[in-house]
Amino acid sequence: MSGTPELKKKNLIFLGAPGAGKGTIAKEMVAKYHIAHISTGDILRGEVAAQTPAGKQAETLMKSGRLVPDELVAGMVRRRIAEPDCRRGFILDGFPRTIRQAELLEDAMAELKISPDLVIYLEVDDETLLRRLTARLNCRKCDAIFNKLSRPPKKEGACDICGGELFQRPDDSLETAKSRLKVFYEQTAPLVDYYRKNGLLFTLEAGPIPDMMDKVAAELE
Ligand code: ADP
Ligand code: ZN
Repeated sequence: MSGTPELKKKNLIFLGAPGAGKGTIAKEMVAKYHIAHISTGDILRGEVAAQTPAGKQAETLMKSGRLVPDELVAGMVRRRIAEPDCRRGFILDGFPRTIRQAELLEDAMAELKISPDLVIYLEVDDETLLRRLTARLNCRKCDAIFNKLSRPPKKEGACDICGGELFQRPDDSLETAKSRLKVFYEQTAPLVDYYRKNGLLFTLEAGPIPDMMDKVAAELE
């Protein structure tokens, strides 16, 4: 694709607490590098909306901020990364979230004869995370993400991009946001050391989005 920067590393994993900005940065990177965006949260919300068997299984767990079973999410990811648009590269946003998921991912990638090139860890303090989660607004139509405080839409309640209706995710209430942070520290944070040990970890400090994109570019291009 003309004008698309070449990538030295293309199969990427985003690691970070809920509210760290994984989805926001992932979307910027997809627009710039034309790689696939695989958000397990988005896939699961789609399954819930369609009331598929997987969606029915995930619904209550998601509402209360708990993780859905490893095998269920890993199966979705295994099928998704085998699709042709992922050959250019992809961002796994919100997966893996447990050591077991990381192992299942390695198996799935080995089958495709690929491996993760970089794990981007978004480090943000708890106070900021809670403030962001509870102020977050999502577009019903195009999945764009806004924030009442840091990234307000131009017109209240409407998406800047498509005009769609903005809403708060049910799991972004203060109580559920707190449980999700707890789940992150207990089940997902151990992956930071796991990936540091195998040399894949790149810590990306929070800052203005253009600065973060520059740091990512220095690492990937
Ligand atoms: P956030 O990163 O803001 O917590 P996500 O959209 O990534 O939000 O996830 C929303 C919910 O979907 C999680 O709280 C969890 O219930 C479920 N989920 C998403 N990804 C996974 C995963 N890899 N493993 C288990 N559950 C997941
Ligand atoms: Zn929109």
